[in-house]
Amino acid sequence: MVAPESAVVAPARTGSNFDNVRRSNLAAVLGMAHAQRRVSRAEITRATGLNRSTVGGLVAELVELGLVEEREPGSTHHAGRPSPIIVPREDVVAIAVNPEVDAVTIGLVSLSGKVLKRIRYDTARVPTPEEVVNIVAAVVAGMAGELQSSFRTVGVGLAVPGLVREQDGVVVLAPHLDWHNVPLAGMLGTALGLPVAAANDASTGLMAESLFGAGRGVLEHVYLNGGASGIGGGIAVEGRILKGASGFAGEFGHALVNSAGKLCHCGAQGCLETEVRQEELLEALGLGKSGLEELDSALRAQVSRPEGPDTGVLEVVHRQMDFLADALRGTVNIFNPELIIFGGFLGTLYSADPHRMAQLVRSRALKGPSEDVRFARAELGADLLLVGAAQLAFAPFLADPASIILAGAGASA
Ligand SMILES: [Zn+2]
Repeated sequence: MVAPESAVVAPARTGSNFDNVRRSNLAAVLGMAHAQRRVSRAEITRATGLNRSTVGGLVAELVELGLVEEREPGSTHHAGRPSPIIVPREDVVAIAVNPEVDAVTIGLVSLSGKVLKRIRYDTARVPTPEEVVNIVAAVVAGMAGELQSSFRTVGVGLAVPGLVREQDGVVVLAPHLDWHNVPLAGMLGTALGLPVAAANDASTGLMAESLFGAGRGVLEHVYLNGGASGIGGGIAVEGRILKGASGFAGEFGHALVNSAGKLCHCGAQGCLETEVRQEELLEALGLGKSGLEELDSALRAQVSRPEGPDTGVLEVVHRQMDFLADALRGTVNIFNPELIIFGGFLGTLYSADPHRMAQLVRSRALKGPSEDVRFARAELGADLLLVGAAQLAFAPFLADPASIILAGAGASA
């Protein structure tokens, strides 16, 4: 639904018109298999309007390129010959990386959007760009044998908690990491010898949820992501990510929610991300540095206690929900979204009491838009940013499947 963004420059489109049509048809077929994870030839024929033999030829070419495989369908209730099923190949993978203030998470993600492997490397302090590159290089070196023998690695995608210039993968500013103008994609590309694309973490999360999660098929939605280093988000308008003039749109973290609040690193006071913090939630639950799954299960355990949650925990949860609702009031009034998706620790917060969260926003926003809006937790959970980051690496091949040969990604296997 949402066009993937990428810092990798697509190869020049040369050749005859026939080539261009074929290329875009190949991309359409691969795109369907990718987004739906399995699609029948008959569905492709119906959706593209191409004739059956053309679709057969395109599928054969994608099979030849090693991007999809064709399977015999199972039993079918339809009359006539069952149509073969096309699925993306599980051994075509991207390496996904998410550096944060307390850890570097590295994943191996298949073309079907499945996280095959996830490694969280805790850091003693906020990592420098060089440390991130070293950690990723060491983890990838550790997987080298497996990557060589069992997978085709097409590239690397980076989800960065900061402002990222997507054309060249330069992290313009990551305030919580204290990074300024860091050419991270370039540094990692040199270290790994693979193409690297980078984008803001919330943008990658929005992309993943739009394709594979709660935002699937919903054209107007807003996504808010809460991480260790703050809150970001994205807005999908008519199925496209709203980028803004310089690509920085969606910084929900700096919406004013408390005029008497704490000073934010951005210079303003009482921003959403200074008032609603993952760290505060972890502290209330008596947790130290933890992953999302630990936070989730700790809060779930609290709210499902027969005697109700601890008053200290409840107070933090309610205060954070109140501030979040204040930020969303404006969002609902201005964008009239159909769906608001909560990712990261905001998903944990929402899940603690979805009814209260929805009521708070509805009671504060205007009657019209608040009647339409629905709320959901991001469905991809801890895999979200890895799936989104991998999408950056897959984007060039999804746009031009035959370019996988030029990329030399078929060297292994
Ligand atoms: Zn701020």
